[in-house]
This record gives sequence, structure tokens and C-alpha cells, in this order.
Amino acid sequence: MTHRGFIVVISAPSGGGKTTICRAVLKRQKQATLSVSVTTRPQRAGERDGIDYLFVSEEVFRKRIEEGAFAEWAEVHGHLYGTLSNTVRAAMDEGRILILDIDVEGAQQIRAVFPDSVSIFIVPPSLRVLEERLRARGRDTQEDIENRLLRVAREMKEIVRYDYVVVNDDLERAVDQVEAIFTAEGCRRERLEWEWEGADQIRGPL
Ligand code: 5GP
Repeated sequence: MTHRGFIVVISAPSGGGKTTICRAVLKRQKQATLSVSVTTRPQRAGERDGIDYLFVSEEVFRKRIEEGAFAEWAEVHGHLYGTLSNTVRAAMDEGRILILDIDVEGAQQIRAVFPDSVSIFIVPPSLRVLEERLRARGRDTQEDIENRLLRVAREMKEIVRYDYVVVNDDLERAVDQVEAIFTAEGCRRERLEWEWEGADQIRGPL
């Protein structure tokens, strides 16, 4: 018995530990793949074009919007980010669980277009911990950090729209919880591709 492909949207305030959790879950859930987004944000040191993101100019991004190439897109921290419809289609054709690591606005668009998608919001244990994590990763300027913290309040309001909430106070437990959601969602009756030996011998109303 297998299940059909489905989308899992994972959002979190930046510094929420989402990327680490996604990577850990990917290692354990062989049917899952991470969607590679298109972005106009400049490439950071250590990032690989085509693997971490598809890095494009704003002109190219806007052209792809006009062509209707995106399943969703949004402006985040002054840059454009989007998920290609082709990425979603290919994953669904292959019966995969496609993880979309996207912001709250993109998540809302995905919910509207794919009502059977699943959404998970990962929250840091507190605003203080979030700020500490942002500073500790040493990647962002002071201004960036402040902008990200400002955005948190708005993002946290969106929590009510998500199917699941995972608090990331302990990484191992958060990964276990996200994995449990994947497993349970894969068992939903409506997702099952059902070939049960002996089904033809069952008689009468069930
Ligand atoms: P970063 O620039 O730190 O990699 O990502 C910044 C934010 O953009 C994160 O919250 C991430 O979830 C979001 N993001 C990344 N890719 C996409 C995408 O394709 N669509 C949307 N809507 N948000 C994205």
C-alpha cells in the first residue's frame, strides 16, 4: 500500500530552526524531497545555485510571474521568492512528499490552490531565544536582525491558519514531531493507493 504525493508547507519565523529540522526529517523520510525555490536574494557564501535556491535577477523573476510559472510567490525581507508549479507537479507525479520551506504569505497561497496540503508552523520557545539564535548564526547585519524580529509579530499571528504547531525547544523532539506528522498524514485514507489482497472476497455491507 502506498500513498499519493502531497505537499507539506513548513513555516517559521527566521531563526526558528526550520532549516535544521527540514534537513533532519529529509534524512529519515525517504519519500520526502525539499522544493528548491527561485529567489532574487543575493547568493550567500556556501550556498549552491540550483541546490539551495535558483538565484535569478528581479527581471527574470518578474517575467516568470507573468508567464504564470509560480505556484506561489512572495516578497520576503525585500527580496522575491517563489515555488515553481513544475516543481510541485513533478513531485506529485512521482508520489513524493514535497516540503515547501516558505513564508506565511506563500503558505496561504498554497492552501488556496492545494486544499489537501498540510501546513506546519515551527515556533521558537520565546522571542528572546529567537533573537539569540539570529545573533549566534552571525550571518545577518544588525539591521537585518531587527527587520526579522519586527516581522516575527506579524508572522506569529498567522499561526491560527496552520494545521500543526511544533515548538522547537528541543531539536530532537521537534524533528520527531514533524516526522510523526508526515507519517500520520501519509496514512490518511484519502491519500492511500489501495490494493488489498482479498478485497474482492469481502461480502455484504461494510
Ligand atoms: P532566506 O533568505 O533566509 O533563505 O529565506 C527567507 C525566508 O523566505 C524564509 O522564511 C523562507 O521560508 C522564505 N522562502 C524561501 N523560499 C520561499 C518561496 O519559494 N516562497 C515563499 N513564499 N517564501 C520562501
